[in-house]
Amino acid sequence: MIKEAMIETSILPAPVLEQNPQDAPKALPSLLGATREELAAALAAIGVPERELRMRTTQIWHWIYFHGIRSFDSMLNVGKNLRTALAEHYSLERPQVISEQLSTDGTRKWLIRLASETEGARGDEVECVYIPESDRGTLCISSQVGCTLTCTFCHTGTQKLVRNLTAREIVAQLVVVREKLGDFPGLVPPKDGLLPGEGNRPITNIVFMGMGEPLYNFDNVRKAVGVLSDGEGLSLSRRRITVSTAGVVPQMEALGREAGSMLAVSLHAVRDELRDRLVPLNRKYPIKELLDACRSYPGATNARRITFEYVMLKGINDSPAEARELVRLLKGIPAKINLIPFNPWPGAPYECSDWDTIERFSTIVFNAGYASPVRTPRGRDILAACGQLKSETEKLRARARLIAES
Ligand code: SAH
Repeated sequence: MIKEAMIETSILPAPVLEQNPQDAPKALPSLLGATREELAAALAAIGVPERELRMRTTQIWHWIYFHGIRSFDSMLNVGKNLRTALAEHYSLERPQVISEQLSTDGTRKWLIRLASETEGARGDEVECVYIPESDRGTLCISSQVGCTLTCTFCHTGTQKLVRNLTAREIVAQLVVVREKLGDFPGLVPPKDGLLPGEGNRPITNIVFMGMGEPLYNFDNVRKAVGVLSDGEGLSLSRRRITVSTAGVVPQMEALGREAGSMLAVSLHAVRDELRDRLVPLNRKYPIKELLDACRSYPGATNARRITFEYVMLKGINDSPAEARELVRLLKGIPAKINLIPFNPWPGAPYECSDWDTIERFSTIVFNAGYASPVRTPRGRDILAACGQLKSETEKLRARARLIAES
């Protein structure tokens, strides 16, 4: 029944759906991305008795997140009656993958369309990026559609449409990408691509460095980290999940305490006057307050360092004096420094620092005891690098709007 409804939805031409939302088949709520508590509540709501709840939740959790199954019928150790009841009330529908791009360096980018909140309307879109390296595979996921921060060097900040992703939508990004990479039992990995060394799962690390400011969506990010790191399901260690923030100081302590993830901070400047311009959020939470919050970040130790990201902008923040000041500022914080060559985008008001300048900067940082700090840009040819994410579809749609209005 659900299957039929889904097929029908996908073959109906979009304009008909958009004009007559009441004609669209009513979508059942998807359990994909639910927390354990939400899953238990969903089971209780369809009559699973209290005494069975724990056991059933564990069983179904394992099917959804460990096996990555798409249909309740595949839940072999769940009785037929419960499977039928599940299928009558819920789905395991995923967000739709709209497009996939493969970079010459093996980086992959997917544009993902989320389910629409309004019946029949087209859902919002986010991008996520997979970066395979010899010893790890990193998935870069989004926490918001667009971003409100307006950092002047970041393409995402120029996107108008902004909303928080739900915890389910955050988790679903990992699930759909694992499917694409053939990384659930019984699936086959793609033939055309570099995957990390043998014995590794393709995705070993998650970074919240896609679209959005994760700490402006703290509750959902915290919940999502709980699901991603659950040992009976998706099983990513919290030490391999990094949340990157532009510096939302009041939420940082709670992130460490409640999500237990690793922290990355987008610093980018060593003086408030410059950081105010690059990262306008600095006017609210200046460098000193930000670094104080880092000093007291729960769980930061030499084995669990905070990553400081620093984008290299030609003639703006890349002098040797600034490198020395950076080292001075970070004294006493268990830190890693990640120098990111600026990734250009059409119309960007900055250029990337010259290679010599980056090397000089990096040597000063290296001599102060920070190892291999330059991040190689990955996936530049498919606009998948840091700060380049902005949905192509959104640009096309904006262009169509302009034409319609003229
Ligand atoms: N809002 C969060 C996470 C998203 S951005 C944050 O600010 O940390 C992930 C990283 O990419 C941030 O360090 C961001 O400053 C950086 N970035 C953004 N645009 C960039 C660009 N064009 N080139 C290089 N790095 C960029």
